Amino acid sequence: MSAPLLGHLDPEFLELMEEVKVLLRATFRTENRLTLPLSATGSAGMEAVLVNLLEPGDAAFLCVNGVFGTRMAEVARRAGAEVKTIEVPWGEVVDPERARSALESAYPDPARQPRILGVVHAETSTGARQPLEGLSALAHERGALFVVDAVTSLAGCPVEVDAWGIDACYSGTQKCLSCPPGLAPVTFSEAAIKRVRSREHPVQSWYLDVGLLDEYWGASRVYHHTAPISMIYALHEALRIVHEEGLEARWARHRLHHLALAAGLEGMGLTMPVAQEHRLPMLNSVAVPDGTDEASVRGTLLLRHGIEIGAGLGPLKGKIWRIGLMGESSTPANILLVLMALGEALASRRVGAALAAAERELAAA
Ligand SMILES: *Cc1c(COP(=O)(O)O)cnc(C)c1O
Repeated sequence: MSAPLLGHLDPEFLELMEEVKVLLRATFRTENRLTLPLSATGSAGMEAVLVNLLEPGDAAFLCVNGVFGTRMAEVARRAGAEVKTIEVPWGEVVDPERARSALESAYPDPARQPRILGVVHAETSTGARQPLEGLSALAHERGALFVVDAVTSLAGCPVEVDAWGIDACYSGTQKCLSCPPGLAPVTFSEAAIKRVRSREHPVQSWYLDVGLLDEYWGASRVYHHTAPISMIYALHEALRIVHEEGLEARWARHRLHHLALAAGLEGMGLTMPVAQEHRLPMLNSVAVPDGTDEASVRGTLLLRHGIEIGAGLGPLKGKIWRIGLMGESSTPANILLVLMALGEALASRRVGAALAAAERELAAA
């Protein structure tokens, strides 16, 4: 990022933009032509997808099981959509059959079906991983576009935009891409682009209008806004690092380290509230033991060991900690360190057992 700045229309910079698009397509596992990073954080990716696909009065069906699903519904409402949701307890995932019956009763009129079905793949507020293929099939049966938040999942676990029939997907740079915050990679399928092109009203956000952005990122190179040059350098390098490791190897690393951390936590007698088959590898929720001052444990970890773990949010406030193992931070050393630090902060007598359990998982790889 400290490399000298280039102009945003400099041929050398344009070449870098082309490489970023190619690398992003490989990361999203898509052939989508319209794949680019927006000049803003992950939430702007969410906003861009929703304001481009939804017009005032459109119906939108959203799955809500945490902070980010709630945010999606709020953004869709502010875009003027009539939002209906299926809500499940935080920490759980949406079952496609339950979603089907919720959708059928929400939209009985075949002439008025939702424009989009939206869901968060990796709910960072809870640690739950939403299976996507059943919901994708449901969306397409109803003629809806399938919208997925992959801010936390991208480059940390499989995200298969084309194979899973995802029509619009967005992410952020600072989660498993291990890049500073500031860009939001997005990708739109041909069906999604068709939807944008057939809008009656122009996209209400000029800045996030993908039609205009596509003219700058596409062949015509029409000035829209000045690209954040240094951030594009950073994303370019972060994506090179992802593909140098290999996407599949990176998924496997996240999974292995998650299993090691989980074994260690359980070895210490702690419990993980998300069902095993739905746990995210990059965001590990741990139940706060009864009678523990959870904020003081987080404070000790930060001040003594330089480790920041997340607090619970919303209904999970005070009930869980959230331990991130994202991108570069997903290492054996970090797992052992956080287990030792947690063990010390909790005055656990089972730190040795926890470390041994984590080591066993690591050695099994
Ligand atoms: C972090 C996150 C966002 C928001 O990204 P920002 O970069 O904070 O704007 C959206 N969705 C999910 C699932 C996230 O984890």
